[in-house]
Amino acid sequence: MDRRLLEILVCPLCKGELIYQKEQRELVCRADRLAYPIRDDIPVMLESEARRISLEEYDALKPRQAPLE
Ligand SMILES: [Zn+2]
Repeated sequence: MDRRLLEILVCPLCKGELIYQKEQRELVCRADRLAYPIRDDIPVMLESEARRISLEEYDALKPRQAPLE
């Protein structure tokens, strides 16, 4: 997936940043605990298509790495 695209994408609900889950092919919003699917390399940024993630999945999430200073 295009990194630049990834960087400009935000959660449509809270406008927060998303975490790219490569294995699951999903973009996750931690604030809303929703995972948006990526289909054919195209993120589907619709709440109706998103999956609610479990607490276990939430705990396993790592925030996007902060840029080195
Ligand atoms: Zn959100």
